[in-house]
Amino acid sequence: MKTTGKAWLIGAGPGDPELLTLKAVRALGECDVLFVDDLANPAVLAHARYDARRIAVGKRAGCRSTPQEFIERSMVHEARSGLTVGRVKGGDPFVFGRGGEEMLALRAAGIEVEIASGVTAGCAVPAALGIPVTHRDVARSVTFVTAHTRDGEAPDYAALARVGGTLVFYMGLGALDEISAGLVAGGLPGTTPACVVSQGTLPRQASVVSPLDRIALDAKGLPGPALIVVGDVVNLANRGQGRNISEIGVRVEISRYFYPDPDFDRRRA
Ligand code: SAH
Repeated sequence: MKTTGKAWLIGAGPGDPELLTLKAVRALGECDVLFVDDLANPAVLAHARYDARRIAVGKRAGCRSTPQEFIERSMVHEARSGLTVGRVKGGDPFVFGRGGEEMLALRAAGIEVEIASGVTAGCAVPAALGIPVTHRDVARSVTFVTAHTRDGEAPDYAALARVGGTLVFYMGLGALDEISAGLVAGGLPGTTPACVVSQGTLPRQASVVSPLDRIALDAKGLPGPALIVVGDVVNLANRGQGRNISEIGVRVEISRYFYPDPDFDRRRA
């Protein structure tokens, strides 16, 4: 008799392959078959078994993607045949990653599911610029918002403006105009510091820091995936390097390397 396999939902982290948990590394090494999101850096698959089957199931905005139901059915099918199945997702599987839906579908089919949490872009991507998402006396809360909903409804910008603190928008690049206009109409000052970080923690990381009412204009042309950070914490971006937004207004940086380099500070000194 065949025994049922199991499934792992694996967070691949935001991009930099070193931002992977030890649990994710172990899970990757256990899987017979891997369903891999295109947001996940393929470099993390270095931890997969050499003989593991890898299936690309991309679903980037605007592109054709593998239907969610098909992914779920395939995972159930493979697990039922006794295999250990992995679902590799960018960031954390439970933060705007549809990991919850997959967990429910797998459990409904009687398959054991384990979660290897990942480092979500919402924390690590701002951190790559030196922006802490909360900071004493500056931001007492952080709100993760998706600019995309299933029914196409916009977020309640007035409510977000009232919450204040740090606002982090996922999947918002295409709606940047609407986000900034909505927040300003909702009551946030147009001078609130805002930041767009494209391909954060990766070699092609690029970022723009500018006031909320200018950010859509200034960040035009940045490629995705990109995260939008709004709030006073943005002023802390790379503090100490003379690049405070209030001093220089707009800042654009292209192609910065953020892989850890232990000698970086020593060499600059
Ligand atoms: N589960 C993922 C988020 C998936 S939604 C996580 O926890 O991070 C996809 C969105 O995440 C993108 O549209 C973008 O807003 C954000 N994102 C993911 N990786 C990113 C990166 N390296 N740089 C900037 N934004 C990123």
